[in-house]
Parts: sequence; C-alpha cells; structure tokens
Amino acid sequence: MPQYDFDLITLGAGSGGVRASRLAGGYGARVAVVEESRLGGTCVMRGCVPKKLLVYGAHFAEDFEDARGFGWDVGEPTFDWPTLIANKNKELDRLEGIYGRILRDSGVNIIEGRGKLADAHTVEVAGKHYTAERILVACGGWPSMPDVPGIEHVITSNEALDLPSLPESIVIVGGGYIAVEFAGIFNALGVDVTVIIRAGNILRGFDDDIRNTLAAEMEKKGITICRETIVRSIEKNETGYSVRLAGSEVLETDLVMYATGRAPNTKGIGLEEAGVKLEKNGSVCVNDWNQSSVESVYALGDCTDRVQLTPVAIAEGRAFSETNYNDNPIKVDYADIPSAVFSTPPIGTVGLTEEQAREKGPIDVYISRFKPMKHTLSGRDETTLMKLIVDQKTDKVIGCHLLGPDCPEIAQILGVALKCGATKAQFDATIGIHPTAAEELVTMREKRPDHGSKT
Ligand code: NDP
Repeated sequence: MPQYDFDLITLGAGSGGVRASRLAGGYGARVAVVEESRLGGTCVMRGCVPKKLLVYGAHFAEDFEDARGFGWDVGEPTFDWPTLIANKNKELDRLEGIYGRILRDSGVNIIEGRGKLADAHTVEVAGKHYTAERILVACGGWPSMPDVPGIEHVITSNEALDLPSLPESIVIVGGGYIAVEFAGIFNALGVDVTVIIRAGNILRGFDDDIRNTLAAEMEKKGITICRETIVRSIEKNETGYSVRLAGSEVLETDLVMYATGRAPNTKGIGLEEAGVKLEKNGSVCVNDWNQSSVESVYALGDCTDRVQLTPVAIAEGRAFSETNYNDNPIKVDYADIPSAVFSTPPIGTVGLTEEQAREKGPIDVYISRFKPMKHTLSGRDETTLMKLIVDQKTDKVIGCHLLGPDCPEIAQILGVALKCGATKAQFDATIGIHPTAAEELVTMREKRPDHGSKT
C-alpha cells in the first residue's frame, strides 16, 4: 500500500506544470495535476498563443497596403474583430483539448479546482485532501498593477485578448513586452494608441539600439509614446476615460490598459503556512533543482523569480521530471536564452546587450541598418536593424540583437550558434543566403568606431 495517494501533485496546468506532469507520468509516476482554470495556462490561454494570433491578424493591414507596390489591387480591405476573436477562441479550445489528451495519455489525473497546500505532502481541492510524495507548484503569474485611483476601470492583457469590440483609442501604461506588443496590434487595426512609460524609453533591459529604433518605428506608425510620465488617476466619464497625468495634462480615451508586469500566483495557497519560503515579491525561493525550502515542495515557471518565458518553464519542467523520475539529474542552463518581442516590427535577441558586454571587457560592435528588400517595392518606410557584439579577447559573438520582419525566427538559430560558442570569424566564414535579411549577419565587416561607449 503506497504511503501517499500520488507520487506527484502539480498545482497548475500551464506550460511548465504540464511538461513536468506528463514526463513524470510517462516515467511511471502516479501523477495528478490540479487546475482551477483552463488547461494550457497563461501561454496557451491568455498569453503567447492568442497574442501571436492577433499579431498575425493585425499585420494583414500592412500586408494589404504593401501588396499594391507588387501590382495587386485588393480594393478597400475590411476587417471584422469579432471574427478574429471567435477564430482565435476556436483554436484555443482545440489546444486545450490537446493538452487534456496529452495528460491523460501519460496517465496523469486531472483534478479541477483551486489547489491549496494543507501541509508539506497534502493538497486540498474543494474540501478534499490528496497526498503526494512531492508537490510541484507551477501556478504561474497574473498581471500586477500599481495602486492608482481608478485602477478598477482598466483592463489588462487578459481582457485585451477578448474585447467585444475595438475601441477608437486606447492608452497603454507600461513599456515592457506586453505593452509594445499590444500597441502594435491595436495600432495596425486602426486604434489611436498612446503608450505611457515612466522611464525614458521602452523595453528596459534590451539593447539600447533596439529600444531606440523600435520606439522610432512605433512613432512612425503613429503610436504616441509619452516618456517619463506618471499616471495620477483614471476617471470614468460618459464616453470613456480621463487619464490624469502628473502635471496637469489629461488624456481622454476609450480604454485604458495596464501592462506593468506580472506577479506570482502564490497568495492564499498555503505555501508560507507549510513553511515554503517566498521572496519579497511573492515568488517561491528555489534551488538549482527547483526545490523550495521544504524538501517535498518544488516550484518552477513564472511563480519563481527566474526568467518569465514559456520555453524556460518547459525546460524547468523537463529538468524536474528527468531528475526526480528518470534518474537523470538535469539543471537548466540559463545562459544565452534567445527571446523575441512580437512588436511591429518584431525583435529577436540572444546574449548580452552592448551595455552588459562592456561591463565584462573590451568588445567590438557590428551594426547594420537597412531597408528590407520587400519594401523597395512596397514603399514602406521601415528599418531593419542587425547588431552583433563580439568579445575582443576570444572573438566569440556574445550578443545578437535584431529588429525587423522574421527576426524572432532568425534569433532562434542564432541561439544555437551562441550556445556553440561561435566566433565572429566563423560567422564570416559562413556563406550567406541571398537575398535574405539574415545574410547581413555573416557579411558585416566594418566595426562600429569605438567611442568607449554606445553611440
Ligand atoms: P515587463 O516587466 O516586461 O514590463 C513592465 C513595464 O511596466 C515596464 O515598462 C515598467 O517600467 C512598467 N512598470 C512597472 N511598474 C510600473 C508602475 N508602477 N507604474 C508605471 N509603469 C510601471 O512586464 P509585462 O507586463 O510587459 O510582461 C510580463 C512578463 O511576461 C515579461 O517580463 C516577459 O517575461 C513575459 N512576456 C514575454 C513575451 C515574449 O516572450 N514575447 C510576451 C509577453 C510577456 P520600467 O521599465 O520603468 O520598470
């Protein structure tokens, strides 16, 4: 008679929780996953997937315009937001079905409801208690917003993905991934977009050349960016909302969206009561093996304070299950994680920014700005930027920063090159594919003159 009901209970069926659970199930562990909302979690239901479908949908606006230069007469295109949302939702239903099937095929029990730790080996769901040798907390995160008067009137990315109709105007507060991605979507669909950032620039943490160029491209497309601006209050009025800024300016808008970061979903699920140590921001403190301060309780993904990206949560889920259920100890390597921002145009990046690289030692910078070939005929005024950062001592490429169509796809493969420790000489020895934008990465020969700091 086993000591526990299950070998593993996972709280949360998002990307990380599902990967860990189904691998553990596949290795013969008795697994249950507890989910209070939909299978798939943030990425599939409220994040990456629906957002990217909207990015595709919105980009047709530019595609129809660009087609004219190639001889197409597409008439006056019309767009129906409810159709896009309905089709997107159909796809999410399909994906949820696949997630359920994958879990069941791996022998994983799905328990619907909100799970809460009753002790280090027990989870309570709707008054029922289930015991397990290990508990994996994979509860993800949720939009977090500052305490501003009128904050109850605003939407987050959760609601933005399901608006019943498009507003004529929107104010988006924040300048991170979500803010710039949604600014691009709404702007392309004809909404008047204002982005409010408290800092001097969007996308803190990204390479400055990318930040500056994307901000300029967004502004060229008609997005207003209010820099070093603080929102004092939001008031509802008869037609929409008044956003009162520090100083005396007031912006009138149809809708206000906040994209000011995400907080871990760790409140009220019995973690601290069970002795699990949390960081100040509420994330679960874990060691390299995803283990919390309580031996039987593990955590991964967005509810820990590491890298908030789906593929990272998936890698952590795999590492957890390989280590604990397949006798194959694996730690996640957090170096050189490629990432993308699906802004318009999009960003692809891997490795160190110029600023980070300079702190480590002398570097060479190669940078190329050009108009993509497609836009010679489309006439679109959009810059593509490619930047390589090379360690002077080792000749290794230690940072790649790209802005332009297809750059997320290119960055994925640059991630492989950086993992292999590729040198600039090896980039140069690689024959380009002509005509592509990516060939620029293997043909950049001129170092940017070094003034000791970024230009
Ligand atoms: P980010 O952390 O990327 O950005 C938050 C933004 O909000 C920053 O511009 C920040 O400004 C601003 N901000 C924070 N607090 C306040 C405040 N009190 N008042 C005004 N502005 C504030 O968060 P997001 O919500 O955009 O995204 C959350 C996470 O989700 C990301 O970090 C990312 O890891 C993940 N994600 C990844 C995507 C992808 O891979 N493509 C897409 C979407 C999300 P400041 O710079 O001054 O701190």
